[in-house]
Amino acid sequence: MQYDNREDGLPIPEIFRNSDTKGYLTHCIQCDYELLKGDRYYVIEKVFKRYPNLNSTQVLFEYAICSECYENMKDSLSAESMQNLTNYMMTKMDVSAMQQRIQEHPNDPQKWMSHCMIHGTPEAEMNEYQIAACFKGDKMVTDFMPPYMIGDLAIEELNALLSKQTKEDMDRFMGDVFGIPPELRKDFILI
Ligand SMILES: [Zn+2]
Repeated sequence: MQYDNREDGLPIPEIFRNSDTKGYLTHCIQCDYELLKGDRYYVIEKVFKRYPNLNSTQVLFEYAICSECYENMKDSLSAESMQNLTNYMMTKMDVSAMQQRIQEHPNDPQKWMSHCMIHGTPEAEMNEYQIAACFKGDKMVTDFMPPYMIGDLAIEELNALLSKQTKEDMDRFMGDVFGIPPELRKDFILI
C-alpha cells in the first residue's frame, strides 16, 4: 500500500489513548515493557461496542502490546490459521477505499478509520468494531500499516478462518492476559 512515509510519525490520536485517563498507554500488556522509551514498536488495539438503546458506545477493552510480544503471539498461531488470515486480508481488504481516505485526510488518521477496512461499512452502522494501529514512543507510525477499523462482520469472518488450535490458544491468551470472561472473547480477534 502506498501512503506517505513519515519518519517522525503522527501525534497519537485521542482515540488511541487510555479511555479513562486520556493519557498514553504506557506499558505492554504482556511483558510490562515501557512503551514510551521509544525503542520498540507497539500495536494498540481497542474494541468498541455500541448500545443503541442507551445511545452510548463503550470501550470493551483496550491494550498495547510491544513488537516482541506481538511477534511471539503471531509465531504461536498455527500455520493454517496464519495462511488463512493472510489470504483473507490480501483478497478482501478494500485497498483503494483506504487509500482514498488517506489522500483526503492525510493529517487526520482518525478519518482513515471511518469505514470497515474490509467491507466498507460506515462506523455509525455497526454495533461492534475494533481499531488498531502501530506506534513508536509517543508517535503513531503509518509506514507498516495504516490505522484501521474492522467491523463485526469482518471479525466474524476472520474468526471463522482460525483453526481449532489457534482458537484455543487465543482463548487462553485472552483469559490469561486480560481476564476476559469466555462469553466476550469471541467478540475479538487479534490480527
Ligand atoms: Zn511486550
